[in-house]
Amino acid sequence: MSNRTVLHGIGVSAGTASGPIAVVTPAVGIDEHEPASTDPEADSERIRAVLHDVAASLSARAEHANSDSAKAVMDATASLATDKGLIRGIDKELKKGTGPTKAIHDAVELYANKLRKIGGYMAERVTDLYDIRDRATARLRGLPEPGIPDLTEPSILIAHDLAPAETATLDKNLVLGIVTEAGGATSHTAILAAQLGIPCAVQVKGIAEATVDAPLVALDGGVGEVIVAPNASDVDELEERSRRRAAALAGSSGEGATRDGYKVKLLANTGTAEDAQKAAGYDLEGSGLFRSEFLFLDRDAAPSLEEQTETYTKVLEAFGNRRVVVRTLDAGADKPLSFADLGEEENPALGRRGLRLSQAREDLLDTQLEALASAAHNVPNSELWVMAPMVATVEEAKWFAERARGAGLKKVGVMVETPAAAIRAGQVLEEVDFASIGTNDLSQYTMAADRMQGELAELLSPWQPAVLSMIRETCRGGEATGKPVGVCGEAGGDPLMALVLVGLGVKSLSMAPGKVNAVRAALRLHDFDTCRQMANFAVDARTAAGAREAVLNLADPVLKDLL
Ligand code: PEP
Ligand code: MG
Repeated sequence: MSNRTVLHGIGVSAGTASGPIAVVTPAVGIDEHEPASTDPEADSERIRAVLHDVAASLSARAEHANSDSAKAVMDATASLATDKGLIRGIDKELKKGTGPTKAIHDAVELYANKLRKIGGYMAERVTDLYDIRDRATARLRGLPEPGIPDLTEPSILIAHDLAPAETATLDKNLVLGIVTEAGGATSHTAILAAQLGIPCAVQVKGIAEATVDAPLVALDGGVGEVIVAPNASDVDELEERSRRRAAALAGSSGEGATRDGYKVKLLANTGTAEDAQKAAGYDLEGSGLFRSEFLFLDRDAAPSLEEQTETYTKVLEAFGNRRVVVRTLDAGADKPLSFADLGEEENPALGRRGLRLSQAREDLLDTQLEALASAAHNVPNSELWVMAPMVATVEEAKWFAERARGAGLKKVGVMVETPAAAIRAGQVLEEVDFASIGTNDLSQYTMAADRMQGELAELLSPWQPAVLSMIRETCRGGEATGKPVGVCGEAGGDPLMALVLVGLGVKSLSMAPGKVNAVRAALRLHDFDTCRQMANFAVDARTAAGAREAVLNLADPVLKDLL
């Protein structure tokens, strides 16, 4: 029997689970010992056969996919495996004498660069191309194919990291939980896991090694604890935590408010009309962030005015008279659009993304604003708010507000995602009606730490006192101008952090719908004055860990059951 081990990572999707593990097989890479190709034709035959098998197995899996989008992803990958351009590239490498697995890697890299240059939809196929490379390499080397194994029983997935596409295709009935060694709290994998309501912990160092001989694990996705080879009392304890959590959540319904009745709107983050329809079924007060770029990505041309109007109308209809905050197109740079290519950039996160792209392509923004105004007209009792992403200056806020108001939109705001907007929030807010803090990007830019870098998770924590200072400055700007400031980054879905945000002056919190109950219960346990005190302690702390600990010490003991 293996040894019981307790590991700690970052909890990104609350809930507990225990069960057998299913290891997501990592990619094997080039065979370092392979000889040069002395018979390129025979090697080419072998690689073609392997690619054919890869395509066939992906197509077979596509038939059993659990959703149309998952099927489409797998079908597209399958057809890329037998792409003639790719095979020609591999043949070229073999003819140079390159060994088979290296020939695949080199040819794929050249092909990937070409796709990246084309941008848009083609650039996004690069992930699929790497998937094919890794599957083909594993087969050539006689090793298991990378990726999520076919699950025959409900299991907890153990992975180094999961690609967002893999997470999006998970079957909720078979995946009890997810534990990854890498990944960050604001990575899209974490966001998707929370959206699916699957308990998940990331940055659990040593999980792969610890589970080599241990078929069972127990997971608390709230606090990020993983017990490898748990004993009976661990499983009991986890079940007890689950019961306590259920008790703490019991009766969590209705408007968000502190114990003494200070109101805080609890809203959902959404990205598609389907998402919005699902979220609207939850007990919450609207959508605080509709990520409209989902409608634009993966396409050869921008969605038409009619299509956009139809989508926004559906979103507004879903929420009735509840608030819906639509963020205008947040693309560019790392989310390229083939129909709005502004050229390659050295530092995409600091490039022409978000509102900067809209300023370069006013036509795209104007069509979107017109569609939003038509949708509001189609749903007369709706409450539509519209905001711009990645605003850094007062001029940008003014430019956006004039355009949006000119299109007939009533409530116009900006996201605060840059330190520049945060420390000048008062002046920025003079131009608009509201602000919503994007804590994911605000952390990234305040700490100069790439949000996609799991290794930098500590720097990216919203508990960093520097980030909290930015939030405080933004709220001060809100108070000075009498304009509401909300939060729509992942920080808003953490019950403990939510108390701090409210204490800092945030009036609404938007999060994955599955997180609303816990945040609402946390607010109900505390008075506004306690939240204020927590906020002061947190901002005054010297370290992120110190900030969190100070706040936890002030919290009601039941709060721990919600984490
Ligand atoms: C944010 O940056 O916090 C945010 C909500 O926007 P996104 O995560 O879509 O960049
Ligand atoms: Mg952002």
